[in-house]
Amino acid sequence: MRILISGASVAGPVLAYWLARYGFQPTVVERSPTLRKTGGHAVDLFRPAMEIVERMGLLSKLEAKKTGTDRLTLLREGVDRPIEVDVARLVTAVSDRHVEIMRDDLAELFHDATRDSVEYVFGDSIAALAEDAGGIDVTFERGAPRRFDLVIGADGLHSNVRRLVFGDERRFAHWIGAYLAVMTLPNYLGLKDRSITLGDVGRLVVFYSGQHMDDARALFMFRTPRELDIHYRDVARQKGVLREAFAGLGWEVPRLLEELDRTPAFYFDSITQLRMDTWSRGRVTLAGDAGYSPGPAVGGSTSLAIVGAYVLAGELAAAGGDHVRGFQAYERELGDYVRRSRTFALHTAKNLVSSSRFQLWALVQAARLISLAPPRMTRALSKLSSKGVRLHDSIALKDYGHQARVAA
Ligand SMILES: Cc1cc2nc3c(=O)[nH]c(=O)nc-3n(C[C@H](O)[C@H](O)[C@H](O)COP(=O)(O)OP(=O)(O)OC[C@H]3O[C@@H](n4cnc5c(N)ncnc54)[C@H](O)[C@@H]3O)c2cc1C
Repeated sequence: MRILISGASVAGPVLAYWLARYGFQPTVVERSPTLRKTGGHAVDLFRPAMEIVERMGLLSKLEAKKTGTDRLTLLREGVDRPIEVDVARLVTAVSDRHVEIMRDDLAELFHDATRDSVEYVFGDSIAALAEDAGGIDVTFERGAPRRFDLVIGADGLHSNVRRLVFGDERRFAHWIGAYLAVMTLPNYLGLKDRSITLGDVGRLVVFYSGQHMDDARALFMFRTPRELDIHYRDVARQKGVLREAFAGLGWEVPRLLEELDRTPAFYFDSITQLRMDTWSRGRVTLAGDAGYSPGPAVGGSTSLAIVGAYVLAGELAAAGGDHVRGFQAYERELGDYVRRSRTFALHTAKNLVSSSRFQLWALVQAARLISLAPPRMTRALSKLSSKGVRLHDSIALKDYGHQARVAA
């Protein structure tokens, strides 16, 4: 059974891995001409995603590539005394098992694990889909047309497959009050195992690098009272908006804003949450950010993308390749995790970028408390939280190995 996957970042290759393992024939088409190796940002894998990586036999390779950012220095605008936070303790509140890794390193790891069993087509994109009772005719922007049994969009928040099948993304995208930017810059602060965060009311800056990285990243998050009319590809205006939003901040911020003129890789987007009641139609479904991003950098969306890909492949195999039953089971199995991730993301976005001096103070005190308390107490306290901060660890993974039938 031939399955076309659009997108070779996280969800796409994980899905391809499991589909190939169950006997399907996956092809991955990726718009970029090669795997992306500049820019990118750190992402988090929590317990269920780590378990899947372990089942793929990639745990030691994952660990070898982790950023190793174990300490966080928290600064507050206008306050001299920094707070030192042990990141492992901070994460304990959320998950017992966690790795932070650069997204591009993770994508490379998954690509390397699948390159021999999966067909990859780089530098192309789906132009049109025409479904009939027996399959889907796919037209590409560059390559010759081909026919597949199923098509899966794993092409990110601004998914092409979602647009082709479900229509304009504005129908599903909900802005959750903040903006996000990341730029690549020289690691002129010499950070390796430490990140520095500067918090102010309505804005946050993080400078970080990693043990394998020659350069660094500056991440900016800020709130605006209303959504800005700014296209996600209008880079000049995005940089202008960022300069305005962070004007007047101390520490290294003036230097970081200067680096905007020189950066080789810049990303800017609204923090948007996708809300689709269903993400499957006919022979097409979506996986990862394309179908259910709870919002970048706030909802553990990388873990959700890995779990989603694993569940989709498993349910399709368990249904013997019957996409109607398989897609229904996929949505049923993942639905609760998706809905709870949205709530988690709303909560994180609200707390991470403080909207008042008091909220900022409370955030700093919480970080201080967590870094001083024994991990067992942190875990116990977090379990009392009604906001479900241990969302990811509460996800139980099915083992599809026994029931999965090899598809023809
Ligand atoms: C700035 C930033 C910071 C983030 N921080 C975190 C974090 O701290 N923790 C966390 O867990 N997550 C974080 N995320 C989110 C995380 O990156 C995503 O959840 C994760 O990468 C989702 O994987 P995905 O494979 O679904 O989509 P993506 O990683 O977005 O990959 C989509 C792929 O599809 C390709 N593609 C796009 N259009 C087409 C097309 N037309 N045809 C073919 N291919 C196409 C893209 O090139 C890309 O390779 C952050 C995201 C951003 C942007």
